[in-house]
Amino acid sequence: MGFEYAPALESRSVVDLKSSYGLFIDGEFVDASGPSFKSVSPATEEVLAEIGQADVADVDRAVQAARRAYTRTWSVMSGAERAKYLYRIARIIQERSRELAVLEALDNGKPIREARDVDVPLVAAYFFYYAGWADKLEYAGFGATPRPLGVAAQIIPWNFPLLMLAWKIAPALAAGNTVVLKPAETTSLTALLFAEICQQADLPPGVVNIVTGAGSTGQALVAHPDIDKLAFTGSTEVGKAIARSVAASNTPVTLELGGKAANIVFDDAPIDQAVEGIVNGIFFNQGHVCCAGSRLLVQESVYDDVLARLKRRMATLRMGDPLDKNTDVGAINSSEQLARIHELTAVGESEGAERWSPPCDLPERGFWFAPTIFTGVSQAHRIAREEIFGPVLSVLTFRTPAEAVEKANNTPFGLSAGVWTDKGSRILWMANQLRAGVVWANTFNRFDPTSPFGGYKESGYGREGGRHGLEAYLAH
Ligand code: NAP
Ligand code: MG
Repeated sequence: MGFEYAPALESRSVVDLKSSYGLFIDGEFVDASGPSFKSVSPATEEVLAEIGQADVADVDRAVQAARRAYTRTWSVMSGAERAKYLYRIARIIQERSRELAVLEALDNGKPIREARDVDVPLVAAYFFYYAGWADKLEYAGFGATPRPLGVAAQIIPWNFPLLMLAWKIAPALAAGNTVVLKPAETTSLTALLFAEICQQADLPPGVVNIVTGAGSTGQALVAHPDIDKLAFTGSTEVGKAIARSVAASNTPVTLELGGKAANIVFDDAPIDQAVEGIVNGIFFNQGHVCCAGSRLLVQESVYDDVLARLKRRMATLRMGDPLDKNTDVGAINSSEQLARIHELTAVGESEGAERWSPPCDLPERGFWFAPTIFTGVSQAHRIAREEIFGPVLSVLTFRTPAEAVEKANNTPFGLSAGVWTDKGSRILWMANQLRAGVVWANTFNRFDPTSPFGGYKESGYGREGGRHGLEAYLAH
């Protein structure tokens, strides 16, 4: 690289971090019964705050608060009134967007550029979008008198803490449900800031409850007898366990699980654009993206060209302080996730794939992993089959469109796919053949509140986003 950038640090002063946080139940912050745990900045391992761990009794209090709010307030309020609260929340998110983005980057490790330009604007957009539905539910196509389900239990992962919260809470509230949400253990802070926003918006107590904690808190929520809806985003493993544990009840469940998406580049694709899309597909959010384009399928005739340009582009990615506005790739969210990435990449090498990363100095403290590609990958390799959930791309090749489809669909997952080609007819043909909930054409990792998102097979069931996302919270 020809020249160095001076650091351009975003200020932390906009965030008012408390030393400890309780649970948000019935409109108030209350102490948790369980022992507290620490939330650290993955970029520095600095302790940001102590967080309360909700136990079974705390979860029960939260569900009871949600039930009272549902029965007495939220389900009997008109849709137009509910919309006012949702619009108010959306506007406060916009007003406090810088604070939310800085806190998300600090606690999650993602670059401020992404938190500021992608996560937080989308969070506001989802609230605005579902606010618009709240008084129009009878026109959503789910019958003349769609009814809310009741109390929704919602469990989210650490990769998009605020965005996953928005995907869950906005449609649930618009449809007239109340919620108890459990954020991931490593990324509770922005959910707690969202709780403050609910207070600021004068949302009636109990409509939104946030219970922080580890897997056991999630289990307590799943096992609670008085929930009417369960929505989970996370690993396929935990998703399966949840599906088993509620199998005997009639509770409707939405599961958004893992993925192993194919990003397919044909020889007639605009190669420079495709390379940007490959980089965005796998290095956006450090590859902690369920719909990441983690398997690159390149048509053989352009393989050398694509690989050369991809490596050149990867060498320009800037890795480092998430709060630096120049940073492209931030920190891995936790030491556990880093260990998993190390484990699977070691397997990739031992199974015979060839590993490459651009030269890059990793910071001494914190959890870091350099952008990595594997070539010479076959379909049988674990790095071609299992979700790595990190900045690691497995590269395969194909000769014909039919071979591309076969390889792309040869996975237990089915969340997303990408197609790069100049031909509109081929895009449509491919989109019909690919067994994936979302197919992007000449782009990747694009999200929009009006568009449904969700998977096939081990990627889960149910859809979030758009009109489809409302259906998950309505009885009709
Ligand atoms: P995870 O371990 O499944 O955790 C997800 C959430 O479930 C966390 O809040 C977690 O709490 C909680 N949890 C853990 N064990 C539980 C149990 N037995 N019962 C109830 N809740 C439990 O997943 P993760 O490692 O945080 O996230 C990465 C995974 O999520 C990846 O596989 C990724 O593909 C998937 N993901 C999917 C989507 C999608 O939309 N399809 C989106 C994002 C992520 P703790 O944090 O305390 O463990
Ligand atoms: Mg943290």
